[in-house]
Amino acid sequence: MATQKWDIIVVGGGSSGLMCAISAVKAGKRVLILEKMPQLGLKLRISGQGRANIGNTAELKRFLEHCGTDFRFLYPSFHTFFTQELIALLSELGVQTKEERGGRLFPQSEKAQDVFLALVRYLEASEHCTIMKNQRVQSVICEGERAVGVRTEKEEFYGTSIVLATGGLSYPRTGSTGDGLLICEDLSFDIETPVPALVGFKCRFPNSEWRFDESFVAKNANVMVIDANQKKIAEAFGEIEFTSFGVAGATILTLSRQIARRVAAKEPLRLVIDLKPSVEAKKLDVELIEAISKVSSKYNKITFKSVSSAVRSALPQPLVDLCLAYAEIDSRKSCAQITSEARKAILRSIKSLTLTIETTEGWERAVITRGGVSLSEVNPKTLESKKKKGLYLCGELLDLDADTGGYNLQIAFSTGWLAGQNA
Ligand SMILES: Cc1cc2nc3c(=O)[nH]c(=O)nc-3n(C[C@H](O)[C@H](O)[C@H](O)COP(=O)(O)OP(=O)(O)OC[C@H]3O[C@@H](n4cnc5c(N)ncnc54)[C@H](O)[C@@H]3O)c2cc1C
Repeated sequence: MATQKWDIIVVGGGSSGLMCAISAVKAGKRVLILEKMPQLGLKLRISGQGRANIGNTAELKRFLEHCGTDFRFLYPSFHTFFTQELIALLSELGVQTKEERGGRLFPQSEKAQDVFLALVRYLEASEHCTIMKNQRVQSVICEGERAVGVRTEKEEFYGTSIVLATGGLSYPRTGSTGDGLLICEDLSFDIETPVPALVGFKCRFPNSEWRFDESFVAKNANVMVIDANQKKIAEAFGEIEFTSFGVAGATILTLSRQIARRVAAKEPLRLVIDLKPSVEAKKLDVELIEAISKVSSKYNKITFKSVSSAVRSALPQPLVDLCLAYAEIDSRKSCAQITSEARKAILRSIKSLTLTIETTEGWERAVITRGGVSLSEVNPKTLESKKKKGLYLCGELLDLDADTGGYNLQIAFSTGWLAGQNA
């Protein structure tokens, strides 16, 4: 049994845990980080496809609009450590940042690894910080209503304060497998059921055999989500990636966060996609009539175009294939064979392509976890648990999540920092 007593034990060396440790070390505390994986910060290193969209320069009010209905919980964290503090800290550690479209903040080098290394090197260089890897914490040791240490399979570690920074359940190969939720469940904390969010949907395509062989990104599409009563419950505009199993891409990820719970509850939901939202149905119909009625001359003979090449004037080929399959029209048919009913079916497939959501792509592909330890369990000013003195929680372990755009990493950094200050 280990006898050494630390000021702070941080469980989890991910985005929030590393920031918590830096904040505590800067406050002069002796910190022990226990990380279950052989390496720290695996998720941070793959964030933003390896570029790490570490934050967003939106002013606080706008920023919070992306953080869900419980955004007030974040006030103390953001008042203590927000975008400017993050930029300043990274600059102090040798990482310059840059702003991109929509206020997205990235390291200038566009390498998540640089952010990770800067944080870890600071901690490794500090005599106040000890990092132990391959240490999977299984439970919190309590004496009465106070947390006094943690237990791994083989050892016990004691500290004045314990910070749980174990993340959620998404991308389990990075180490976030929900351990913190089980630990908190053992302590009788309320948990909001976790569901995958910022994730693609597996959908039923027009007919069971029809599939995209390769992913295709449709730009400027409008997507509505409708329930069983045809009621619109969410809507977004932008890029959709059609994949062999369904849909993904920025717009779908945004929607997935809004409807994550309903999909998890297996509510019958459908996506209604307008592939040409800038052209009204009537106008598009006129364009289709024109395209279909045009004949082309080939080898001095008049030939009718295939319906596929006629629709090609409105859409890129992969979407033509999708729409014709949806309208149940053989793409090799000549335009001469297209009845007005068939044309209307094509029009419907372009303006209201309807896909049934079967499920999400699951934890393996979800960017974040929706749900987690209920915010009512934690004092937002300190991030200390209300039930166990000396126990602090931060990052995705908490029931906090936000849209894509750097908001989630900022939440992890800010809550990590506040927990480190108070622990
Ligand atoms: C593919 C991908 C891309 C992303 N891109 C972005 C982006 O560009 N911008 C953005 O804002 N957000 C992004 N996110 C989300 C963001 O990375 C997370 O919200 C953030 O990293 C959460 O930080 P965390 O510290 O709470 O959890 P994590 O970073 O998951 O860290 C938790 C750590 O705890 C460790 N741990 C777990 N259980 C135990 C245990 N029992 N004992 C010891 N250690 C344990 C884990 O191994 C892990 O190291 C992305 C997420 C993914 C999956």
